[in-house]
Amino acid sequence: MSNFYFAAPDALLGWLKKLAADYRVLAPRREGRSVMFRPRTADDLTDMDELLRRATASPKGAVIPHSETLVHFTSTKDAENPASLTTTLEAPRDDAPTLLFGCRPCDAKGFLVLDRPYLGGKFKDPYYAARREALVIISQACPTAFATCFCHWVGGSPAAREGSDILFTAVDGGFVLESVTEKGASLLAGSGFASGEDRKEEAEAAHKKAEASLGAPSNLKNIPARVAARFRDDAFWIKETEKCLSCGACTYLCPTCQCFTITDEGSQLDGRRIRSWDSCMSPLFTLETSGHNPRAEKFKRMRNRISHKFSYYPQSYDGEYSCVGCGRCVVSCPISLDIRQVVKHAVEGAPDVAPEAAPAPAIRPESPVPAPVKPAAAPAPVEKAAEPAPADPAPAASEAAPKASAKSDARPKTGGKSKSGKKSR
Ligand code: SF4
Ligand code: SF4
Repeated sequence: MSNFYFAAPDALLGWLKKLAADYRVLAPRREGRSVMFRPRTADDLTDMDELLRRATASPKGAVIPHSETLVHFTSTKDAENPASLTTTLEAPRDDAPTLLFGCRPCDAKGFLVLDRPYLGGKFKDPYYAARREALVIISQACPTAFATCFCHWVGGSPAAREGSDILFTAVDGGFVLESVTEKGASLLAGSGFASGEDRKEEAEAAHKKAEASLGAPSNLKNIPARVAARFRDDAFWIKETEKCLSCGACTYLCPTCQCFTITDEGSQLDGRRIRSWDSCMSPLFTLETSGHNPRAEKFKRMRNRISHKFSYYPQSYDGEYSCVGCGRCVVSCPISLDIRQVVKHAVEGAPDVAPEAAPAPAIRPESPVPAPVKPAAAPAPVEKAAEPAPADPAPAASEAAPKASAKSDARPKTGGKSKSGKKSR
């Protein structure tokens, strides 16, 4: 049986409306200059053009809400013995079937990046697991690359299937839909769409066109080890971070950033524990109760962000990066810091490390690095004119990159006042 179907725009919209009866549908919605994944009802699903827009914020809220209650607690004191408490705990789980429509292949891959720490270790996060299991992902193959896209630097492509249940591609007069997983296949089997076998080649041609619209691929080698070898080069990180405002927009909009904080609110006897998004770019993120802050300076926070994505994470997970090249951080940064350039500078000027090779052993943030590091007094040159440079972030397509609003993804206010815990991944 074929994996390919064809649907005209009205048929696709009609199918989505039907699915909205059984699923919580999250799809792009224009809000001022932003495009956000928002819950959409059948009545609300009317504008196909809007649903095809690239979202300015990532869809990670489908599995990690901005803020969620982990547990409600209620305690009752024994009237005769007030020191004796009876406590009831209630842990809500959100496993409502959810359909994410219209994210891009980089976003779909972002969920796989999140899966590894949340589901792949000894302890699995039950809140994340429930939402993830209930999620169906229908991605749109990118018709063209934006100037800030670099999925091809980190193993992706505008039509990559990784992470999607269904991938659809715009062709003349409609869309070719391809099932990627069993979840996707069973959904499409009940769609009533015609076979898309005879339109497959058109879809493939569209994929090739989108790939060609990307800039030159990176020629950076041995990135995890080279970024690790930069760890103690404070002068380098200070220079790269000079203009950063520590606003955190880059992390809130990123599909793979996963830091959170825990707060309790209510009274001692009745309240709830909340988990909320946090940002490792905030100086408060690592502030300890003692007053010590291991990352008080912003260059240390930037070093952590870059190293996590391009060194710690790949060293922990078989060379996979914790960046999918969506470019949102580049688009949204108020000082236009380009993560591609930071990585390029880090790699090009890094001390020599063992060539390519097996991934270095996993290291934890702030721990000594395994690679040899030259003294900071003799930093290597940032640019090597003799070497062919990887692509600069030059415009790759005529399509203008949309502007994202940092405000639209601002950290939620949890209210309340009490203990606070932070988790850095
Ligand atoms: S670091 Fe930037 S480019 Fe990479 S996934 Fe996050 S937002 Fe996208
Ligand atoms: S968005 Fe730009 S200015 Fe804001 S924290 Fe990130 S790198 Fe710094």
